[in-house]
Amino acid sequence: MAYSYEAPVSQTLFDRASLVTPGGVNSPVRAFRAVGGTPRFMVSGTGPYLTDADGREYVDLVCSWGPMILGHSHPAVIEAVQSAVARGTSFGTPGEGEVALAEEIVARIEPVEQVRLVSSGTEATMSAIRLARGFTGRAKVVKFAGCYHGHVDALLAAAGSGVATFGLPDTPGVTGAQAGDTIVLPYNDLQAVHEAFRAHPGEIACVITEASPGNMGVVPPRPGFNEGLRAACAENGALYISDEVMTGFRTSRAGWYGVDGVAPDLMTFGKVMGGGFPAAAFGGRQDVMAHLAPAGPVYQAGTLSGNPVATAAGLAQLRLLDDAAYEKINAVSAQIQSLVTDALSKEGVAHRLQSASNMFSVFFTGSDVTNYEDAKKQESFRFTAFFHSMLSQGVYLPPSAFESWFVSTAHDERAVERIAAALPAAARAAAEATEVSA
Ligand SMILES: *Cc1c(COP(=O)(O)O)cnc(C)c1O
Repeated sequence: MAYSYEAPVSQTLFDRASLVTPGGVNSPVRAFRAVGGTPRFMVSGTGPYLTDADGREYVDLVCSWGPMILGHSHPAVIEAVQSAVARGTSFGTPGEGEVALAEEIVARIEPVEQVRLVSSGTEATMSAIRLARGFTGRAKVVKFAGCYHGHVDALLAAAGSGVATFGLPDTPGVTGAQAGDTIVLPYNDLQAVHEAFRAHPGEIACVITEASPGNMGVVPPRPGFNEGLRAACAENGALYISDEVMTGFRTSRAGWYGVDGVAPDLMTFGKVMGGGFPAAAFGGRQDVMAHLAPAGPVYQAGTLSGNPVATAAGLAQLRLLDDAAYEKINAVSAQIQSLVTDALSKEGVAHRLQSASNMFSVFFTGSDVTNYEDAKKQESFRFTAFFHSMLSQGVYLPPSAFESWFVSTAHDERAVERIAAALPAAARAAAEATEVSA
């Protein structure tokens, strides 16, 4: 634990946590295993800043892995939550908040005619796949290596995110039967998709893809890739599922759909739409959604689905996300991106800064990254050195080279200046890093 001396209170909490929780965390990538050192236990967040248990403030470039697009403790979101909580926290009945949130989603995203609310992105993709199988009467699912769709059994084959970080191509506990109907293809390879449809005629229920992947680092679709997927699905009677849990309401008002305009049959959402609470959704074509219980035969349910506090937070957040908000986020993102790439270039560090709208990440490699195989070729030990230098200077990056960085409307000049001030030393640390010292 080379870095533990910097965070004694976090270390004490982590020791306590490790006794009662596997690995000391409730979601693997939080444990800093990919970069080493003591995970910071955060106690509060305001705007673009987080404060840890040792009283140190950080500029936050994780934003809770995407949801906090207005920054932490945004007054309008806090007020909406407080007023919802005061009316009661769960009724187990329908309520107006969930109608309003569904209406907001449907109004923003043309291909979504109907939507079902759930509590996590994992539930959204799991349910969308069940619905696709129920609707088509087919079993097989196509996914892409490096795309992460939550910890759904059938989708934990060659997944990104924490799975990428830990290099587990598969996980114990997922049976051959559960993963056996999953076909994993290289990302950005339409030829492979056509071949899969030829090899399995009439058997493929759906193709699921991240709208623009952010869970192997940021690897945008090649021009025409999503359109090619849509067309291949349409030709073969399969559904095209665009997973917008990360990109939804993040990359534009209408998510990645708002960027590339390719209409999927089903879409999944989470992260931003929950305003920092567990709210997620899947939706799409009305004729497909009509197969869902109680309208149709495909079962899906949730005790806390459409929770009034979560929906109030999500709705308050979405209502503030107008075009001006996205302009602001895109501008600050572009500014940070160029600071990062300038600092690394100045130190002669081979890297690719890849972006998808305001999402971006740095690959420590000299070649473009178009799929998971490319992503895995990067020199992650340079990221480790870079990460710890930034952390020690008060900038909180995702603790893995395989994750997107996120900014918010709250990232102002002061926050950007702090990032700029930290970058030269971090770039030098990346330049000097060797595989052994990592
Ligand atoms: C985060 C994420 C998920 C899983 O969402 P959870 O709320 O963590 O279950 C699914 N798909 C994508 C693209 C994601 O980024």
